[in-house]
Formats: sequence, structure tokens, C-alpha cells
Amino acid sequence: MTISRQATPLLLEISANLAAEESRVGAKAANLGLLCKLGLPVPPGFVLTFPMLSGQDLTSEISRNWIAEKLQRLMQKQQRGFGCGERPLLLAVRASVAAGVPNPLEAVLGIGLNDATAAALATESADPRFAYDSYRRFIQNYAHVVLGDDPTAFEDVQTLFMEERGYVSDSELRGADSVELAQRFKAQVLSNNGEAFVDDAASQLTSTILALARAWAAPRARTQRKLQGAREDESLAIIVQAMVYGTRGEREGHIVTCGAGRAVSRHPQTGAAQFAGEFLPQSLGTDRQLQLKPTLPLQNGGGESLQTLAPHCCVELREGLSRLELAFQDAVEVEFAVEQGALWYLAAKPARRSTAAALQLVVDLERQGVLSREAALLRIDPLSLDQLLHASIDPESKRQVIASGLPASPGAVSGEICFEAEEARRLAADGHRVILVRPETLPEDMRGLHAAEGVLTTRGGMTSHAAVIARGMGKPCVSGASSLRIDAAAGTLTAPGMVLRRGDIITLDGSTGQILKGEVETRPPQLSGNFATLLTWADQCRRMAVRANAETVEDARLALHFGAEGIGLCRSEHMFFEGDRIIAIREMILADKERDRRVALAKALPLLRADFAALFEVMAGLPVTLRLLDPPLHEFLPEGSAEIEAVARALNVETTHLRRRIQDLREQNPMLGHRGVRLLLSYPEIADMQARAIFEAVAQVAKATGKPPIPEIMVPLVVSRTELDLVRARIDQAAADVQKDTGLEFHYRVGTMIELPRAALRAGDIAQSAEFFSFGTNDLTQTTFGISRDDSSRFIGEYTAKGIFAQDPFVSIDVDGVGELIEIAAERGRKARPDLHLGICGEHGGDPASIGFCEGLGLDYVSCSPYRVPIARLAAAQATLRKLSKNNIKSNS
Ligand code: PEP
Ligand code: MG
Repeated sequence: MTISRQATPLLLEISANLAAEESRVGAKAANLGLLCKLGLPVPPGFVLTFPMLSGQDLTSEISRNWIAEKLQRLMQKQQRGFGCGERPLLLAVRASVAAGVPNPLEAVLGIGLNDATAAALATESADPRFAYDSYRRFIQNYAHVVLGDDPTAFEDVQTLFMEERGYVSDSELRGADSVELAQRFKAQVLSNNGEAFVDDAASQLTSTILALARAWAAPRARTQRKLQGAREDESLAIIVQAMVYGTRGEREGHIVTCGAGRAVSRHPQTGAAQFAGEFLPQSLGTDRQLQLKPTLPLQNGGGESLQTLAPHCCVELREGLSRLELAFQDAVEVEFAVEQGALWYLAAKPARRSTAAALQLVVDLERQGVLSREAALLRIDPLSLDQLLHASIDPESKRQVIASGLPASPGAVSGEICFEAEEARRLAADGHRVILVRPETLPEDMRGLHAAEGVLTTRGGMTSHAAVIARGMGKPCVSGASSLRIDAAAGTLTAPGMVLRRGDIITLDGSTGQILKGEVETRPPQLSGNFATLLTWADQCRRMAVRANAETVEDARLALHFGAEGIGLCRSEHMFFEGDRIIAIREMILADKERDRRVALAKALPLLRADFAALFEVMAGLPVTLRLLDPPLHEFLPEGSAEIEAVARALNVETTHLRRRIQDLREQNPMLGHRGVRLLLSYPEIADMQARAIFEAVAQVAKATGKPPIPEIMVPLVVSRTELDLVRARIDQAAADVQKDTGLEFHYRVGTMIELPRAALRAGDIAQSAEFFSFGTNDLTQTTFGISRDDSSRFIGEYTAKGIFAQDPFVSIDVDGVGELIEIAAERGRKARPDLHLGICGEHGGDPASIGFCEGLGLDYVSCSPYRVPIARLAAAQATLRKLSKNNIKSNS
């Protein structure tokens, strides 16, 4: 979602009304509205929206007056004065952006503080330290966000001052020294900027809003958004709220609890209903502080926690979270502050959680009757299921544990130690598997995180950047492994009693938090419980069948395990690469005469027949689509002198003859060359042999099981009906021969791939000879765009970055171009043959958006790689549900 632009600026009060205004005020502000709607305590304030934040508009009188008017109301409500008076009103300013859009803008807390208001605040409170502590934090925070100062300069000033005055900890700072240190901070602002710190509260507020708006609009932020997949010109809203002080811990002369924290309604890993989080006493609750200081749990068995410090807040928070969970119909995360013993909600949002947790939640909510089964299905991102399909460490394998951290993101992975994000990216591009090892990660490490197989951090908790991002990406992560020491300059990772170096292999177990030495054996994932429940629901809803692309018995078994209902593409050429098969096929290619070719092919036939029979047996009556040989012949030939000589020896031919033959077979653009049906027409004996192997396998399985499988034989790369007819005649002949030889009657279907634009356009004609079409969208995309699928990655990123392509068309169907060709082919094909069976077997068959497109056209099945099968099952169900609801809306209107 994006924030829509209004022609006129908007200034809305924080109230329940904001809940329905997400498209105008962004997710954070809308969620504050939801909190108000539920009657949960939220500090009052207002929200400013685009286009006021374009900069110039804000400085105009009208905008200033608008803000002044809202401030007036806020002052009345709080019975406090802004920038003056005995009871100063202090403000917090935060950015609110559309859900899913990255928001790097830091909050500014304590606007309105100056010498006078800090003094007033000090007299108001039983513990005057609080006022000057807040004042210092504000100066530092303002200088950093608004003036761009380095915050560590202020930390240095403080350290120096404390040394000078003999303080050990800042909590000892008192009286005149507190005041004096605040003045030193102001002096630091002057020295950094050549201008004095702004005392005027109204100017502090406008400068802060402008600084955030400018930072949002700056080229760097725009590029960052683009890199993270958001719109460059995404809008911004700004929340101005009365300040709640988690550092204010006195009431009526007594010291009571104060602090800030985060809480979640569910365990982020398992999704078990479990109230959990972190609480930092005496804190304003900025991310910076929560990350730097040790935090307390919300509750635990006896030790210090929010529950022991402020039991009533704990009860309130727990109750608030369960109400929010029902309202969001999702796991929730809140930020809260406790001021003078009272609980305030600062923010609420759907919690980041693992896919396992998301499944647990929707299954729970469906059982409680909060979500319908259909709504539950629509809540899970199909691609996120990938997280569950990952390996775990084989319990039988030996573990040499180097250290332990938090089990921040599940899965097990091995890779080379790498200390820099950029290096991770480079190494991964060169084909290395790397584990990014960092003290902690930052948003600028994103590219490295994408490139790495897993992430290990020595700092940070379960909600640290690395943990949250890795969970989102479905990569294993161990965070907070504090017994490890990183020395990136020296290229070492020191564990107790051991020094590892850059490039050494380690294994992360993201499910237990263990870091293991070397590569450790892993085990495929176990699918059960909620995963199975959700996919059973999906299967009950979806219309399209889901098949898998598989050639080997292992892949076929895996596909069945994941719920595939057949094989939609068996690339038979992949069966030729193994062992003796490659020798036979090389002999066939090198033969000059048909007779010699047939001799060579005869050697391959029994091997292929056994492969086909094994596939039929594993698939036990489910449809199996077997594609006849497709790739260019030179792919089977050796490269490089040593290999050529070895092959010449194995085939007993002269090296010069072999070299000449390789030269003859070389093509300028093999993808557009002698492959697919063209090859079958040049060497019809290949089609004869493959068809015969298939039918003999059918006979063999029929004999063994009593049930002849019904093979679907697919001819690749056709552009005309005549091509198909010619190959079809060979297939029919082979079937007749095998039936005669075995005395067995069996059925089979012959169809074709639609993977070239001409085939799509001539689909009406081709369908006269084809019982099924399978859209080969890899080649169809390549040939429609005229972009080589092998080389596209070199520049396609630039195309998507520039917005020329909304996304990589080799990943998700280009609906406007390739999609139209598919639509034409489906329509023309069905017109010629109403019972034409239609499917897709390009990579797009496992892409949820493309699956939605296929549902729109009423295709019969999608076929994808085995690991994509569960994703496709869910995506197909969602596509059906969305189509039904669209049709319902249409018929009701
Ligand atoms: C296709 O082109 O989409 C296809 C499935 O065939 P291949 O990827 O084998 O060319
Ligand atoms: Mg193809």
C-alpha cells in the first residue's frame, strides 16, 4: 500500500478516526487510531500529511497557523504550555509511512525543552535528574536528526565531564552538574554548527518536521527505497504527540516504576500464544537504547521483570495485546512506555514472525472462529512457506559447538565466514556460500544479507535487525553470540579456545542458536501439523491442479511428499547427462549415418526405459508429462582439450574427427538454434527411440502393476502444426509397434509446449494435433522480449531499478506482453479443441502472481519445481478465492 496524495494538506487529531485513514496517514498513525478505538491509552497529538511536507508549504503562514491551532488544543487538553509556563508541554515527532515501506527516519523526543522548560520540569518532579537527563538526550537527539551532528561527540562530552567531576555513572549526576552538562551539550551544538542551539519551542518543532520531510525526500533516501522495492516518491506523514517519559519515575513524592519496552502477543518463532518482550527501566524506549542496554523480560519466574516492578502494567499490557490481536487478526507487537507508573501505548503493528508462527496464529484464529478458513488462507504469503521447507541439522551427525547465541531464525546452513556485507555479495556472486558474521547488522547491510546463506551476530536480541530481517528472508540466523569476538581487520573470529579465520567453514543452527565448526550434515524438513492443515484447506479451495517439474525418482518422491498431483514436465534430456547415457548420446551425435545413430540410440533405450518405468511407478497412476529431447546437441559435447581427448578415447574416435564434429555443431545462438522439435525432425530416430522407451516402460509397469500409466508425450519448441504432425506420426508408430510387440492396449496423449510467439499465435491450428498445451514461459519470455534468458541477469536489475520493468519477467509473468500471448493461445486453442488441457511449466508455475494470472485464464494446472509445490498449492487456492470474490462483487453490483 502507498500513502495516497491529497491535493490539500491534512492535519488530523490522533483519535479513533485515524484507524480508517491508513491510506492518508500511513500505518503507524492508523494503528494509533486503532489503539484509541480500543480505548487503550495513547498520548494525544496530531498527524500532518502530504503535501504539506514537501517543505515550502510547511513554512507558509497557513501551515504554521494550522499547527499552532492544533498545538493550542493539545496544550488545553494536557493543561500544559508549549515552550513556556510552569508545566511545559513536550512533544515527540515520528514518521508514519505506508505499511511495508522502509522507514529509516529517527524519532525526535522532547521537543519544547530549553533552559527555562528544563528548569520548570525539574521543579515539577521529585527527582530533578529526570529533567536534565531528558534535556541532554533531546539536545543530542535534535542535533543528530535535525542538524546532522554525530551523536558520539555528545557521548564524548559527557564522558569527559564525568571524569572531570569524578562521577562513575551518569545516574549520580545531580544539581548544578546536571545543569552544567546540559550547557556543555549546547556548547557542542554551537561548536559543531557555528550556530547556537534553538531555544524557541515552535522553531524546534517546525525544524524537526522539515528535517524529517527533507531526509525523506533526499536522493539517498529515494534510492534506498527503490533498492528495497518501495516507490521512490512514496509519501510521508508525521505524527506529533505529547511526550510520555519512560524516564519519569516519581509520583506524589515516591519513586515508582518508569521505563519503556516492546511486547509481542505471540512467540515470534513458534506462534504460541505467549506474552513476551523486553522492558528497559528508566528509558525513553528509542531503538538505540533498547539495543545498547540489557533489558528485562516482561515476566519471569521470580527475577526482576516488568511484572515484579509494575504488576498492574503487566496485566493491562497483556489484556491490551489480546484485544489488539483480535482487532488486527494477527500477532501484534507494541511499543510502550511507563511514566510515573502508568502504561502508555506508543505504537502497535502486526508482529514480525516466522512462517511457523504465522501458521499457528491463523490456525488458532480459525479454530476460535475469529477468521474463516478462506480468510485464514489469504493471510499467509505463499512464498513465506519456503521458510518451513528448509533443512535442519541431522541429529545423528557430530556437532562441534563453537558457541551459542539466540535461535533467531530457523534452518541450518553451512558456509564460509565473511565479515563484510559487500564481501558477502562479491563472494556469493562468485558462487561461494557465505555466512555473514557481524557484531550486529544495519540497514546498509541488506545486500550482504540477501547474498549470505545465513547470518551470525555477536550482539542483538530476537528483535535485532539481523534477526528480524533474516526471519523475513527465511534464512538461518543466530544472534547475540556474545562469547565470540570479531576482528574484521585481522580476519578472525575468536571463540573460547579457538580462532577461526575468514573463509573457514561454519554451520549455523538457527533453530537452537548453536554455531558449529565445519560443515555438518543436514536433514530435509519435516512437514506436519499446521503446515499440513493449511495446505489441506488450500487443496479444498483450489481449482487448478499442481504438478511438479521432475526427472529423477528422488525429485518425484520429494514432489509427492510436498503434495504434487503429477509431473508436468520431465525434461528428458536431463536423464541423458548421467553415467553411461552420456556416452551413448555422444556416440549418437557423432555418428554420420542414420544407421550408426540408431545403434548408439539402441544402447540408450533400455536405460531410458528403466528411468521412465521408475517414474511411472513412483507416480502411481498420476499424470506424467514426458518431454522429448530439447536442448542443442553441443551441450552434450566435451569442452577443453583434456575432456575432448578423454571422450575421443572413450568413443574410440580420432580427436581431430571429434573436434571437427564439435565445430560443425557449434551455433551462434544455441537457444534459438537446433533444438526441440527441430532436432527431432533432423534426427527422427531420437523421437522413435524416446517414444519407444516410454511405451515399453508403460508396458513394463502395466505388467507389474496391472495398471498401464497414461503418458503425456510433449513435443518442445514447435511453431507450426506440421512440425507436430511429423513427430506425432513417429510417436503413433512407436505406440503401434509396442502394442503389437507386447499385445497390450494402452492410452497416451500427445501435446506440445507453447513457448514461442508464433506457436501462441498459431495455437488454433496447432491444437488440431495437440491434446494438451503446456506454456513454456521461460522460452516464451525469452523470445517475446528478445532477451537471452542466460544473460538477462546482467542488465535486468537496471531495468527494474529504472522502473522499465515492474519486475523481472523471468520471475513473474509479464502480463501485458507474454500474458497476452498466453491468453491468445488459450483462447484459440480451446476454440479449435474445446477439451484442450492447458498447463504451465516454466519457472512462473511456482510464482504466486503468475499462478493468479493462470487462474484468471482458467488453466488446468501449474507445474513447478518440487520445493515450490506447497507454495503453488497455497497460491492456487488464494487465486481461486480471489477470483470467486471478484465474481461475487461483480454479480452483486
Ligand atoms: C520453458 O521454456 O518454459 C520450459 C519449461 O522449458 P525449458 O526451461 O526446459 O526450456
Ligand atoms: Mg523451453
